[in-house]
Amino acid sequence: MRKNIVAGNWKMNKNLQEGIALAKELNDALTADKPNCDVVICTPFIHLASVTPLVDKAIIGVGAENCADKVSGAFTGEVSAEMVVSTGAQYVILGHSERRAYYHETVEILEEKVKLALANGLTPIFCIGEVLAEREANQQNAVVAAQLASVFSLSAEDFGKIILAYEPVWAIGTGKTATPAQAQEIHAYIRSLIVEKYGKDVAENTSILYGGSCKPSNAKELFANADVDGGLIGGAALKCADFKGIIDAFK
Ligand code: PEP
Repeated sequence: MRKNIVAGNWKMNKNLQEGIALAKELNDALTADKPNCDVVICTPFIHLASVTPLVDKAIIGVGAENCADKVSGAFTGEVSAEMVVSTGAQYVILGHSERRAYYHETVEILEEKVKLALANGLTPIFCIGEVLAEREANQQNAVVAAQLASVFSLSAEDFGKIILAYEPVWAIGTGKTATPAQAQEIHAYIRSLIVEKYGKDVAENTSILYGGSCKPSNAKELFANADVDGGLIGGAALKCADFKGIIDAFK
């Protein structure tokens, strides 16, 4: 059975002290009131080694927001998958639309990143999604199908280790959310592509998260859809009460 998951993406927010305080607050809140889903927080690299020992691993997983497409060596400023693992982190967001748009991450680069993440034992949260012009031209299915090429070269066994996140770029940080029907339609399409490629069992076991202006007030109706297995949360992951409100949508 696939898992329900709520994952936070802190992006480039919170200095180290603020990040530690948020992780502690969330850990206390979820220890007192246990979640009915897996919870992950993905933080800037510099927070990872401080945050992982602070949270109860059984309740909160920790992840990075990126990793390098190279193993090691002369790549100034890069952080490898192996380094991420050495902090105690278990997850890594890959393919976020901001990385694709601002740092020119291509299907091929992302394929390398996913493979290195998996080779080091990290669980990739692999993001796909169309921009507004593509949605308006009804191209969203073709766009996500092309983006999935980065992970469709994996063996069925390795594909079974990843989490997907559908994030329409027009909904990220805009306050504009996909309707539950729009989310369900494309999540079902994504799952149908997995059925074609890897078969029904793998597809049924793949968690597909929705991301894009998800908040406590709309999480329940989004997560109620058959093919929506939780959320990847940006802005609302920066406040404990908001993030917990979304986690509580599974109660
Ligand atoms: C994101 O960046 O992954 C995201 C979903 O952001 P927001 O929730 O702020 O739209």
